[in-house]
Amino acid sequence: MQSRGLKIAVDLDGVLAESMLVWCERVNKEFGMHLTMDDLDSWSSWKKFSISKGDFYRILDECWEDWQEVPPTEPRIAGKVARIEKFGDIDVVTGRSKKTETAAKSWVDRQRIRYRHFVRVEGWRDKIVLDYDVYIDDAPDLMRLISETPLRWAVLYDRPWNRSVPEMPRVLRSASWNDVPKLLAQIQKALS
Ligand SMILES: [Mg+2]
Repeated sequence: MQSRGLKIAVDLDGVLAESMLVWCERVNKEFGMHLTMDDLDSWSSWKKFSISKGDFYRILDECWEDWQEVPPTEPRIAGKVARIEKFGDIDVVTGRSKKTETAAKSWVDRQRIRYRHFVRVEGWRDKIVLDYDVYIDDAPDLMRLISETPLRWAVLYDRPWNRSVPEMPRVLRSASWNDVPKLLAQIQKALS
């Protein structure tokens, strides 16, 4: 039996783009701190470092205004994403702000990442209402939402800020992009 193609939503920040690396550099410079990505061990890290939520997102937007400086999460990222094309349609689905949308799209294109649609949503919660089979994402809170929604699967891309996410149904953790093809094969089998 031929397995059906999956509709796959690939997140941008933290999954394709290492924007938090640039974020740490900028925060360190502005606030005289010495943060590294490993210090960002929860989703609301700003609470821990007494950075306001407003500053957190302002600085993240500023990172994207200089999008040429944002590195990919892994070397040869476009080739790694291309290895999942055989599983179905790939959309880049991001909660980036409206004003950084063009920059973010330029970044994806400059990286030569191939995808079907570039989709912007207002917030991570809005991702779940879109009709995807699989979400490749790093957002801890999205995982519970996916797990509670029938027929939705997640590939949780391992990051310092999502290590405390417990095991839950239909959420599979990937240590790197190299794990993603075999996890998608597993999901495809389960859905067929
Ligand atoms: Mg993300």
